[in-house]
Amino acid sequence: MATSIDPVCKMKVDESKPAAVSEYKGKKYYFCAVGCKKSFDKNPEKYLAPGGSCGTSDCKCC
Ligand SMILES: [Zn+2]
Repeated sequence: MATSIDPVCKMKVDESKPAAVSEYKGKKYYFCAVGCKKSFDKNPEKYLAPGGSCGTSDCKCC
């Protein structure tokens, strides 16, 4: 069973039954909730920025 990390909230998401899926630059991203997908679709770069430069106040990645 494959799991992915929701890029918005960093939760683990089961790839076989995600709440929402988005494709960005040829890569698929899985989300725990539709709200997370909407946030991602609005500004994917914000969530995919390499470590240390994501710029979000509630960041858990850096
Ligand atoms: Zn989420």
